[in-house]
Amino acid sequence: MNVDAIIIGAGACGLMCAVQAGFLGKKVIVLEKNSKPGAKILISGGGRCNYTNQFATTEQFISENPHFLKSSFKQWTVEDSITFFETYGIIGKEKTLGQLFPLDKNAKDIVEVFTSLCEEMEQEIRCNIDVKDVEQTADGFKVNYVSGEKNKSIIAPKLVIASGGLPIPKMGATDFALRFARNHGLNIIETAPALVPLTITGKDEDWYAQLSGNSVFCEVSNDEISFEENILFTHWGLSGPAILQISSYWRRGEVFNINLLPHQNIIDVIDDERKTNGRNQ
Ligand SMILES: Cc1cc2nc3c(=O)[nH]c(=O)nc-3n(C[C@H](O)[C@H](O)[C@H](O)COP(=O)(O)OP(=O)(O)OC[C@H]3O[C@@H](n4cnc5c(N)ncnc54)[C@H](O)[C@@H]3O)c2cc1C
Repeated sequence: MNVDAIIIGAGACGLMCAVQAGFLGKKVIVLEKNSKPGAKILISGGGRCNYTNQFATTEQFISENPHFLKSSFKQWTVEDSITFFETYGIIGKEKTLGQLFPLDKNAKDIVEVFTSLCEEMEQEIRCNIDVKDVEQTADGFKVNYVSGEKNKSIIAPKLVIASGGLPIPKMGATDFALRFARNHGLNIIETAPALVPLTITGKDEDWYAQLSGNSVFCEVSNDEISFEENILFTHWGLSGPAILQISSYWRRGEVFNINLLPHQNIIDVIDDERKTNGRNQ
């Protein structure tokens, strides 16, 4: 089979890459470990997929190389994302802080945009393929994989590794890209959890569990950054958008602050309560 490129991984990145290559008249094959493409897209945004943000800027991304982001954003703007999805029937509706979700559709429809376009342009997405390693050849790449317990390989002049990050191995996540980068002598920045809830253990555990289900608008900050969004008390600790955000800037042992009354003075709040509801409270 002759293809211009092999793409490893049929997640958001691999699928978009296959579509864009198709628009340029390039033939690719996408190799995917799972039995279906787009597993993580399907669970994104609670199954509704927050597919872009109207106010996204390069400064909001955590990167050792801001120039890479500037160039990416220049080549594919937020407006491009909105127009792309609109073209294929996904109209955006802002939920909060610029987050766009499909108005009357969900994450499954987002995956379908990609899979339908791949089908139309005859870009093959081959599932149940576990890529084991890649060899560089004189005129490209040889990708070795296991399919149905058989060792196989495929060659192409170009290779795209879109095998994603480490979270949620149950959904197909592997350290393939990280291993590849290590084996090829690239500088590796230590990985750390990001956009995750926080588990509270020890003496405060029960206190947090008692408040489980309550969501409060807060300011969550550390020396580096501050976010104003909701926090959610859970049975195991803290979640909600503000906690997910600060988790990317927090490391074990460090401190961050939660202000439960942002832009309000506690004394004024108590005084007001006394005046209006004093005897009842
Ligand atoms: C609960 C949750 C909610 C989220 N909600 C949102 C949201 O609303 N909006 C948003 O923008 N982002 C959201 N995200 C983040 C978003 O899902 C990811 O950033 C995005 O899916 C990453 O896409 P990717 O293509 O880089 O990687 P992935 O989606 O992880 O795709 C990589 C693919 O490569 C395959 N693969 C890995 N190794 C191999 C191998 N060796 N051989 C073959 N295939 C392999 C995997 O099976 C996988 O399908 C959410 C994430 C989670 C966990």
